[in-house]
Amino acid sequence: MKNQKPILIAGSIALDTIETSAGRREDIIGGSTTYAMIAAGQSAAVHVVGVIGTDFPSEGHDFYSRFASDLTDLVIADGSTFRWGGRYHANGEDRTTLFTELGVFGNFTPRLSKINRNVPLVFLANIHPQLQLSVIEQSHPKALIVTDTMNLWIDTTPCELVQVLKRTKVLLINETEAQSLGETSDLDQAARALQALGPETVVIKQGSLGAVLYDGNNRVEIGVFPVATVIDPTGAGDTFGGGFMAALAHNNNYQEALVNGSALASFCVEGFGVETLVQAQQDDIEHRKEFLRRTVSS
Ligand code: AMP
Repeated sequence: MKNQKPILIAGSIALDTIETSAGRREDIIGGSTTYAMIAAGQSAAVHVVGVIGTDFPSEGHDFYSRFASDLTDLVIADGSTFRWGGRYHANGEDRTTLFTELGVFGNFTPRLSKINRNVPLVFLANIHPQLQLSVIEQSHPKALIVTDTMNLWIDTTPCELVQVLKRTKVLLINETEAQSLGETSDLDQAARALQALGPETVVIKQGSLGAVLYDGNNRVEIGVFPVATVIDPTGAGDTFGGGFMAALAHNNNYQEALVNGSALASFCVEGFGVETLVQAQQDDIEHRKEFLRRTVSS
């Protein structure tokens, strides 16, 4: 299975402190790259570019050894790993960021090895757009660039973000971010506005409602797999992105990419951090994909 196109993932690698109605966890392994890598690494070859501190726990190193196949550009720097804290609101989906401590990310510039400069699929998971741009500039001009972002960059670094979007083929973005960047509450119009910034394809993630993909003039919707209890939604979007990329590594079918992304995201929300995602079994993943294929409409 892993002889398909490799995927390069650049994003954050973090220790997260998370509060949801199900409880609180401190310094658990997270970050946009971690979720995306675990999702994509279930069925595709994943290369990682990023930085961790000397305090990164052995459990985290084990995840990286298990789910990634190339760690040449994973730097271990003297200092603390990036830390992020978030508290979810009563609706279970919205959240407040409690703190962001850059640690070793503060001085990090990604440098791609010769092999990673030629990886054909690049996933720019959520991170400062300046770092995303640096990865684009080092990647092969024909690499397929898929980008995720967040409201923080839309609000604080819009010019850099626009530069990233100009070079992006597929944008993954959540509903409120799409409305903010597209400057309209109408999702179809927001998608058109985002396409005008560069990406041919825009996927708007709608949390518990599913996702909508706009590819040129085509529009495809997908629902969600109904999990019994959402414990912690952190990383669902990054997991979706990793699953989306893994499907693209096998073929260029966007519907299957939506299905795989949604199936893996459904495991992510069932536990804190990556605890349930790392335990997802192939037969369960296939079962959820089968269910989700029936929710696709265009
Ligand atoms: P999501 O729930 O999909 O938005 O992803 C949450 C993950 O993003 C957490 O594991 C955080 O460590 C990471 N994260 C939060 N804020 C940032 C940020 N400013 N830059 C990069 N990663 C972040």
